[in-house]
Amino acid sequence: MVVSDNNKYVKLRNLQQKFASTLPERLNLIQTAWLNSQGTPDNSELFTDLLRQVHSLAGSAGTFNFFRLGDVAKELELLLKEYQHGSLPEAVTTVRRLLQQLVALAEQGHEQPKTELITDDSAEIEYLSNQQAVIYVLEDDEDIAAESFRQLIHFGYQVVTFNSVSDFKHAIYQQIPDALLIDIQLVEGEFAGTEAVADVCKTLQLNIPSIFISQHQSWQHRLSAMRVGGQGYITKPIDFDQLADQLEILTGRKQGSRYRILIVDDTVLLAEHYATILQCAGMDTEIINDPGHLLDVLPNFRPDLILMDLYMNGSTGIEAAQVIRQHGSYTNLPIVYLSTESELEQQLNALRAGGDDFLQKPIDDNHLVAAVSTKAKRFRELNSLMNCDGLTGLLNHISFKLALEREIAQTYRYHEGFTLAMLDIDHFKLVNDHYGHLVGDRVIKGLGRLLSHRLRKGDIAARYGGEEFALILPNTPESVAKRLLDELREVFAKIAFAHAHGTFHATFSVGIASCPPYKNVHSLIEAADQALYQAKRTGRNQVHIAADNR
Ligand code: GH3
Ligand code: MG
Ligand code: MG
Repeated sequence: MVVSDNNKYVKLRNLQQKFASTLPERLNLIQTAWLNSQGTPDNSELFTDLLRQVHSLAGSAGTFNFFRLGDVAKELELLLKEYQHGSLPEAVTTVRRLLQQLVALAEQGHEQPKTELITDDSAEIEYLSNQQAVIYVLEDDEDIAAESFRQLIHFGYQVVTFNSVSDFKHAIYQQIPDALLIDIQLVEGEFAGTEAVADVCKTLQLNIPSIFISQHQSWQHRLSAMRVGGQGYITKPIDFDQLADQLEILTGRKQGSRYRILIVDDTVLLAEHYATILQCAGMDTEIINDPGHLLDVLPNFRPDLILMDLYMNGSTGIEAAQVIRQHGSYTNLPIVYLSTESELEQQLNALRAGGDDFLQKPIDDNHLVAAVSTKAKRFRELNSLMNCDGLTGLLNHISFKLALEREIAQTYRYHEGFTLAMLDIDHFKLVNDHYGHLVGDRVIKGLGRLLSHRLRKGDIAARYGGEEFALILPNTPESVAKRLLDELREVFAKIAFAHAHGTFHATFSVGIASCPPYKNVHSLIEAADQALYQAKRTGRNQVHIAADNR
């Protein structure tokens, strides 16, 4: 979910108002608990309950800009703890005074926030970039323009071509594209392309990511491209595969999806506040108020980080972390504790129990965002090193098998089927033999890129082996999967791969099998493999369905 600017301030203010409106009742409950438990601080359930309430108030008040109230609650909590361990003669009077202060501070209302929340506009930009990125091509050679158009739309870009500087300028002042592909030399002049970009950027006061095309390797041409902020320089004939790589980086497609943060806190308002702050910074959040639900939520939400309250009703964050760590698949998942707990010993215990960091409540919003996003980023990076294939960035063989196992289990639990497709590049050995291993690698990478761009959300793509790929398509019957794969096959066959003396095209064959009826990883893969074998045997560059083997 993307929270727009207006929206989020309204949401944060509403949470603050809600908190303020609950204060009188909370203070009342604290007063009553204090009066009822005064005589028996040790072992009394009432006293424990009192401590919990004061602790929770101390932890949440600052977050909603009741800073002084939070400080007084903290003071009260410490005093009550001392009182619990041996009554102090003057404690009763002090508690009473602090309680009165709390009531007075609640009546005064919230204070000014200490810092402004820095919002991340790139959160929205990234969201938009999941849609088709728009590329403007300025090229007066009709053939190259047409070929650029054909090749780039294969990779899922929206492409607009212009053959004159004036048309190009006219369009760019109407709509600013995500990236530019510009021929340096045009009929208008030897450096007309770079000059046009320089003009446009100056007028718009904006740097648009640009890649320049040139037939010259000269220093002068490269320099002119660099001077107007060109991030790429490609010489003719254009290697579209290399171009796609550069565009991918320029348009930010490589950034991946938003971080998913699971918030575990039994104070509902506080959890919502953290969620809003993290959403504003471009993260997705899910809230659990009862740690008992953790194991249900984890496999579906697949968080990149858990933000965990330390003291909750029912169990502590430390216990919850230990339960999570019992599961092999979550041993690396970062757990960050959030608590008012300031005693070092407790913090160390929490970290020993498998936490990764400790943040103290109330925490500054920007500090929260920074701490959470750095840890989530590291987790993603490590995860992708372990689970993804280096060449294509898709899942590797082992992770794919795990995903497949998970998918089969879900199929029989929720009665939603899926289709498995196994892809294998045709006569790939010949590609290597003719053009060399490096060119072969580029073909593998090209297919990987096509798969990751063209698949729908929820689909899973993997590099299964050398030149073999595998896809999981949830909720997709074989017939629909066949149509999808045929489409991909046709697009792939049109991609021009460059070699030393020109370009060539590659194709792939596909075998598909569905679950149900196959009940385990082995039989499903076997069925898809057999179908793939049939596709190869009957001429390659085609899709074969396992059911047709019967
Ligand atoms: P078929 O149409 O029957 O699939 O023929 P093929 O030549 O594609 O099949 P085969 O399995 O005989 O050859 C696959 C070749 O792929 C052999 C291997 O050297 C090459 N290969 C495997 N992994 C890589 C890789 O990562 N990079 C490159 N460049 N080649 C690879
Ligand atoms: Mg093979
Ligand atoms: Mg092959």
